[in-house]
Amino acid sequence: MTLDVEKIRSEFPILSTEMRGQPLTYLDSGASAQKPRVVIDAMADFYSTHYANIHRGVYHLSAEATRQFEAVRGKVAAFIGAANEREIIFVRNATEAINLVARSWGEQNISEGDEIVLTQMEHHANIVPWQMLAKRCGAVIRVAEIDDDGVLDVAHLTSLLGPKTKLLAFTHVSNALGTINPVTQLVALARDRGITTLVDGAQAVPHQRVSVDEIGADFYVFSGHKVVGPSGAGVLHGRMDLLEAMPPFLGGGDMIESVSFEGTTFAPVPHKFEAGTPDIASIIGFGAAIDYLEAIGMDEIAAYEHELLVYANERLAAVPGIRIIGQAKEKAAVISFVLDDAHPHDIGTCLDGEGVAVRAGHHCAQPLMKRMGVPATARASFAFYNTREDIDRLVKALVKTADLFA
Ligand code: PLP
Repeated sequence: MTLDVEKIRSEFPILSTEMRGQPLTYLDSGASAQKPRVVIDAMADFYSTHYANIHRGVYHLSAEATRQFEAVRGKVAAFIGAANEREIIFVRNATEAINLVARSWGEQNISEGDEIVLTQMEHHANIVPWQMLAKRCGAVIRVAEIDDDGVLDVAHLTSLLGPKTKLLAFTHVSNALGTINPVTQLVALARDRGITTLVDGAQAVPHQRVSVDEIGADFYVFSGHKVVGPSGAGVLHGRMDLLEAMPPFLGGGDMIESVSFEGTTFAPVPHKFEAGTPDIASIIGFGAAIDYLEAIGMDEIAAYEHELLVYANERLAAVPGIRIIGQAKEKAAVISFVLDDAHPHDIGTCLDGEGVAVRAGHHCAQPLMKRMGVPATARASFAFYNTREDIDRLVKALVKTADLFA
C-alpha cells in the first residue's frame, strides 16, 4: 500500500461517523465523493472572511474573491494537463458541460442528416442532450457496441465513423462497469476523419492522472463533486478555436462586453460561457480539493485504488451466487454485481442495514443495463480513502444477504 490511508481517512470527518450502529463503509464514491476537512474549511473560511461577488466590485473584498476564484482556473488547468487556463469553463457539473456543448456547438454545427456517434456504455448525461439536439436538428444518433465483458468494440465504432459523422461523444471510464476506454486512440480515430470529439471524464478524473492536451479531445468534461470537491463546481475544457467560434450558452450578466438594446457583444472565452453569479464558494472549495489531491498524487491514488480493485475481486469471488457485470481488463475501481434471486434494491437495503453504502439501480445507464441483460445492478465504487477493511465488511454483509435470499 502506497498511501497513508489512516491519515487520509482522519481528514474526512464523515468517515469516522457511524451508520446504523456500525462504522460507515462508504462505497458510493462513483456517485459522489466524500469531502476532506480542507475543502469544508476552505468554503467556510471563504464565506466567513472573504465573501463578495466576483468580477464586479472595485472594493478590496470583491477583488480578493475574484482573485481566489480565478486562481482555481489555473489549478484546474494544471490538474488536467491543459496548457491554456482560458480553455477551462466553470459550470455546475459534467451534465451542464455536455448540455452547453450540445446547445452551443451542436446547434451551430449539426444539421439534418448528420450523425452523432455514442457508445452503449454512456451515462444518460452523455445521451439525452444529444438526443434532444438530434431532435431539434434532424440528426441521427448511432451507437457503438460493447461486448459481454463490457469492453467497447472499437472495430464497430470505427465502422460507424463515416462522412456524415459530425461528433463522437464517449465516456473515458464507465460509471456502471468501470471499463476504461482507449481514449487517446478513439480521439485520434475521430480526428483523422475530421470528426469533433467530446469525452465524458466524470469517472476518470477522480481516479487517474488525466492530460487533456495529450488526449487531444475537442471537449472534455467532469464534475468537481466526484473529485472530493463540493457539488456545484464542474468543468468544460474545450479547444480555444472551437470555444471562440461558439455562441454563448446562457445570456446575462458577466458574459458580456457591452449591452445596448440594439445589440450585445460578448466577453472573451471563458467568461462568454459563464453567465450570472457562479457558485463562487464551491469553486473555491474545488480549488482546495485539487490542492489536496495533488499533494497525495494522482498516480499514487490510481495505484492504490487498483490494489483495492484486485483485492475486492478476490474477496467477492467467495460470495455465493454473485455475478460481476463488467469484466474489462482495463478497469477502474468500480464493481457492479448481481446476486442470484436478490433484486439489487434489496441488496442495497440489506447492505445499508450493515452500514455499507452502495448504489443500486440502473446507474443512469439504462441502455447499458439492457445491453448487459440486467434491469439493474448493485455497485460498489471505491476511492483512495477506502480500505481492505471496507471490502471485508462489504463481503461479510453480502454473504449475510446471499443467505437471506438463498
Ligand atoms: N458521466 C458519468 C460517466 C457519470 O458517472 C456521471 C455521474 O454519475 C455524470 C456523467 C454526470 O455527472 P453530474 O451528475 O455530476 O453532472
